[in-house]
Amino acid sequence: MSTPAYSNIPTVAPHLDANAALSEQQARELLVELCHQFYHQGWVTGTGGGISVRLGERIIMAPSGVQKERMLPSDMFVLDAEGGVVESPDKPFKVSACQPLFMHAYKKRDAGAVIHSHSMNAMLVTLLYDDVFRISNMEMLKGITGVGAFDLHEVPIIENTAHEAELADTMGAAIDKYPKSQAVLVRGHGVYVWGKDWIKAKTQSECYDYLFAAALRMKELGLNPETGGLSS
Ligand SMILES: [Zn+2]
Repeated sequence: MSTPAYSNIPTVAPHLDANAALSEQQARELLVELCHQFYHQGWVTGTGGGISVRLGERIIMAPSGVQKERMLPSDMFVLDAEGGVVESPDKPFKVSACQPLFMHAYKKRDAGAVIHSHSMNAMLVTLLYDDVFRISNMEMLKGITGVGAFDLHEVPIIENTAHEAELADTMGAAIDKYPKSQAVLVRGHGVYVWGKDWIKAKTQSECYDYLFAAALRMKELGLNPETGGLSS
């Protein structure tokens, strides 16, 4: 996998706010870099998926329907804290259909970044569970804020709609109902994951994807993810 030219994004200690270390130009370059990476992970192929990061009252967001691995820093939209567009790219791009969903994570959870992935692992688990994904006894659970390795962790699954923006109401309700979850799954579609800053949103997206992949494999092996594969 090739890497983009942008590699000057500072990383910080986990207890600090990684977003605070970013200039707006760096935030734009970060989104380009992450979309490039996520494309090669199969999370945002076919222009699917989305990503945004919040710097104070300004939200930097990737555009809709654009090849995620070929975006430029100048292709980003800037939204205000209410989700209104304050800066548009020079090209005739549209704001991501994810915008109303991202705003729920920003407003209800004080998120610093939100990642929407069309990961195959996320999509497949929504076909194997009813309305909640459950897993426990996994070391990778420790990567989710407020969750321990032996906790039974629940992630809500909402039904897909013909248009992404129509998911907003049910996603808002699911966020309220499952306060320990840092993600919402969408049936036959993918997952939205957020975090206090861009690093936490990224690492939680990686942890959740691992947990979804683990559950799929465990079910293939006849093991129960709710017990972490243990017999009791
Ligand atoms: Zn989507």
